[in-house]
Amino acid sequence: MEKARDFAYMRAMQTASAPLMPIPGHIDPVPVPRAFKPRADGRIDLLGLSKADLRMALETAQLEPKQAKLRAKQLWHWIYNRGVTDFSLMTDISKSMQPWLEQRFTISRPQVIEAQVSTDGTRKWLLRSDDGQDYEMVFIPDADRGTLCVSSQVGCTLNCRFCHTGTMRLVRNLEPGEIVGQVMLARDALGEWPSQPEGRMLTNIVMMGMGEPLYNFENVRDALKIVMDGDGLALSKRRITLSTSGVVPMMARAGEEIGVNLAVSLHAVTKEVRDEIVPLNRKFGIEELLQACADYPGANNARRITFEYVMLRDKNDSDADARELVRLIKKYKLPAKVNLIPFNPWPGAPYECSTPERIRAFQEIVFGAGISAPARTPRGRDIDAACGQLKTASEKKSRAELDRLAEEKQAALG
Ligand code: SAH
Ligand code: SF4
Repeated sequence: MEKARDFAYMRAMQTASAPLMPIPGHIDPVPVPRAFKPRADGRIDLLGLSKADLRMALETAQLEPKQAKLRAKQLWHWIYNRGVTDFSLMTDISKSMQPWLEQRFTISRPQVIEAQVSTDGTRKWLLRSDDGQDYEMVFIPDADRGTLCVSSQVGCTLNCRFCHTGTMRLVRNLEPGEIVGQVMLARDALGEWPSQPEGRMLTNIVMMGMGEPLYNFENVRDALKIVMDGDGLALSKRRITLSTSGVVPMMARAGEEIGVNLAVSLHAVTKEVRDEIVPLNRKFGIEELLQACADYPGANNARRITFEYVMLRDKNDSDADARELVRLIKKYKLPAKVNLIPFNPWPGAPYECSTPERIRAFQEIVFGAGISAPARTPRGRDIDAACGQLKTASEKKSRAELDRLAEEKQAALG
């Protein structure tokens, strides 16, 4: 009796002091069917489900586990390697099985509301979700690569003063299927099925569209895992970059659980200026942010962290700013590259772009300190597809409304 009590006590103590230790027998080996959210027509969208969930969706529809495993593998290949959305084209799935799948499942694409092409070849798509929310994606072709700029949210809660997206009132996280859906749609438009390792037009992905990806961490992670899966879209993590405005508490997890390249929207080197232009700085300051960069798993000289720096006239573009930027990067020993982004204007924006001479002078100081500092050429400005111009047409507002909104959101940030 005494012994049993001691044992129970020891167990309790062990559990209390080492809560992360797995306790044998506490993990249920039987997979529990999870609730799949059906669409309005009652069917379940397979796009955006993980491999395990795809299999589970088939089991939930009463397919034998062995069958479900096999079918899930086939479906994954058809969906992500071949780009097929029609079950009747899946030739290795029996003719009787195809209608069974058709009745229960669907493989969606975001609805395209508008597709525009810039004079420089940049393309922008306005997309609409099932619940009527609009978001955008942009494809930027270059001589040696093609980059898809993907949105993670409808709008953005963060309200950086120079960013058009930050002025959108409606904000909702995009689901994994809506994030992967952008890549699928781009592949459709570029005629890039089946997935092939060489000669692709779409070679790189940047999470730099609408929204703050680290405020939608799980969906972004799950979507990128699908994009990186070798049996499907098979994009290397080295060709994917996630850009954050500085959500410090999520950066380590991003490195560990996603492992893609990191870009940080720094934009200013003093508390005063960064507090003004990136209000999130009031929560997570510059030094904290740079420490999180120094700790970012996988960052090294071969995989440098990109610091984005939007050039705002007489705001953050002095020689002293450039020197402080160098000092900070050196202080934290960061394997860094600085991307100088000429400010892209939008109606009612409270800033102007720095002059080309100023950008050059700033660039020379950073470059002179041994840090790569390319100035980005704005792309797709004529169709409002350039950095920070993304905002859906339904959201155009007056200057007074924008200011009111900025105050509301900043109050909410605390
Ligand atoms: N929310 C994330 C990712 C999307 S923004 C982030 O802020 O990092 C992509 C990049 O464009 C960011 O570096 C952003 O600061 C920059 N940007 C926003 N508005 C801009 C504008 N008007 N001109 C130039 N760059 C802008
Ligand atoms: Fe949001 Fe990024 Fe725009 Fe800031 S710059 S408002 S974080 S999308």
